[in-house]
Amino acid sequence: PEKDDEEFDEQHHLREGIYYALKYAGVFFHRHLVETDEAEKAREYLQQRGYDRSIIKKYGLGYAPAGGDKLYKTAIDSGIKEEYLLESGLVKPSNRDDGFYDAFRGRLMFPIFNPSGKVIAYAGRVLGEEKAAKYINSPQTKVYDKSSVLYGINFAKNEIRKTDEVILVEGYTDVISLQQKGIDNVAASSGTSLTPRQMKLLHRYGDTITMIYDSDSAGQRAMKRGINIALREGMDVNLLELPKGEDPDSFVRQFGKDSFLEMKKEESENFLTYQIHKAKEEGRWENPAEKKNVISEILESIAHMPDPVSRETFVQHLNSKAKVGDRALFDELGKIRKDL
Ligand code: ATP
Ligand code: MN
Ligand code: MN
Ligand code: MN
Repeated sequence: PEKDDEEFDEQHHLREGIYYALKYAGVFFHRHLVETDEAEKAREYLQQRGYDRSIIKKYGLGYAPAGGDKLYKTAIDSGIKEEYLLESGLVKPSNRDDGFYDAFRGRLMFPIFNPSGKVIAYAGRVLGEEKAAKYINSPQTKVYDKSSVLYGINFAKNEIRKTDEVILVEGYTDVISLQQKGIDNVAASSGTSLTPRQMKLLHRYGDTITMIYDSDSAGQRAMKRGINIALREGMDVNLLELPKGEDPDSFVRQFGKDSFLEMKKEESENFLTYQIHKAKEEGRWENPAEKKNVISEILESIAHMPDPVSRETFVQHLNSKAKVGDRALFDELGKIRKDL
């Protein structure tokens, strides 16, 4: 037991050290954004996207200077242990010599918070439309597990509790723009397809999820994959498809909060209605062989629902649309559930 205690203390200290390094970096990045000449481009970029001082402050946005090891040097000079900088993923050992370099350079910085508002990682965006990867993220660390993080949840959780609904979007800027317009119950899966752990976290705060992903094909595919994950967690699942070429950020900036909420109210659909609507759009509902496949896909979604009464209700709803008879649908549902 003594050895376990020691091990525990060590891990605890390491985690606290990582949190400290991450917090230090947040101040460093933010100060560079606000104060330095080098960040002029970054300030202009944010202004052009419509982000004002208060939202920049609330989200702790920053700028990582382009020089190779400025954060590393400044942090070491301030007495932060090299180990913590390394373990936080903020700096990396150089392959060329025994020095270190900053993981984020010349990027706009988005701190990623845990539900209680502690910084656990960073995402860095290129300025403008350079060739480099648009976003890079901190690596997995002792305090950051990508698959269980929801960006914005620290600011959204109270409003999700109040409304019992979360709006799930893909990206950092979608969350920031919606929250800037006063739509607070929004969080992002951060591009990764939704995971069961993210879903579990959301379910702590509310029972209804409305997915509003980018209207491009990657976004729509990811949204479709999210349905069964959300259903399995026992959530009520709604989906909204945005007009072509839009994501929630671009939409709300162009058309405003009221149009966004109006569209959500009028056009979001539960998963079953959405799946049939998509099938009709793709011409699959009129063709008997294809229609059979669509019905099977929908039954597969229903099969993920843990609550038997909900399953029953949705099967009946499906039958009212598909008109193939309850018996056939329940038989098929039974088979699918056995294989899940
Ligand atoms: P912006 O509005 O600044 O262009 P976005 O959020 O619309 O950003 P998308 O390309 O739609 O950008 O990507 C959605 C989300 O996917 C991003 O916010 C980010 O979380 C994640 N993502 C995108 N590209 C990458 C990448 N190269 N590496 C890691 N994550 C990424
Ligand atoms: Mn619930
Ligand atoms: Mn997007
Ligand atoms: Mn965008």
